[in-house]
Amino acid sequence: MNMQISHDYYLIVDVEATCSDDGTVPRQEMEIIEIGAVMQNSRTFEVESEFQTFVRPVRHPELTDFCTELTGITGQQVVDAPGFQVGLDALRKWMGGYKNALFCSWGDYDRKQFLQDCEYQNIEYPFGSEHLNIKAEFSRTLNLKKKLGITEALRHFGLRFEGSHHRGLDDAKNMARVVRRVCMGR
Ligand code: AMP
Ligand code: MG
Repeated sequence: MNMQISHDYYLIVDVEATCSDDGTVPRQEMEIIEIGAVMQNSRTFEVESEFQTFVRPVRHPELTDFCTELTGITGQQVVDAPGFQVGLDALRKWMGGYKNALFCSWGDYDRKQFLQDCEYQNIEYPFGSEHLNIKAEFSRTLNLKKKLGITEALRHFGLRFEGSHHRGLDDAKNMARVVRRVCMGR
């Protein structure tokens, strides 16, 4: 993987969001309900720190059954959660302990969801202008025509998804396993 070695860390982020299977939550009204992230050392590929918070959505505050089934996140967990501003403050504080980290995610969805929520809530975008799309980078490096999901990418190395897929932190941790495999071969 042609990862930029100019960065000390890969900040691998995965969000879960409100959603539906019947059009009641259109894409442009989806909102973050969980932020998961890991700080992966770009030299050793060790995950040095993890971050997770639920976030209370305001546009569609009640989770659909579909969303809870997909993610395992309950309505109560998001009702009890901090709002986006407070959640982002916690993320910023955690990220602040690690200088020179490159924002990475699987695909471009997570980056766009952050931009959408920050614009809607009039909150400053927490990342720099750089972003690494691990999904695209993975296919490029391995010369695959298709773009793979995280589970398929793990399977490529004979690995299984660890934890619960469609949960922010578990998704981020498994992406770090893919990155480590691609870059270090272990
Ligand atoms: P993921 O990181 O793959 O767990 O997906 C992030 C978010 O995208 C989820 O929390 C959902 O809001 C949405 N999403 C993922 N897969 C689906 C799906 N099959 N149908 C509708 N929304 C989805
Ligand atoms: Mg996810």
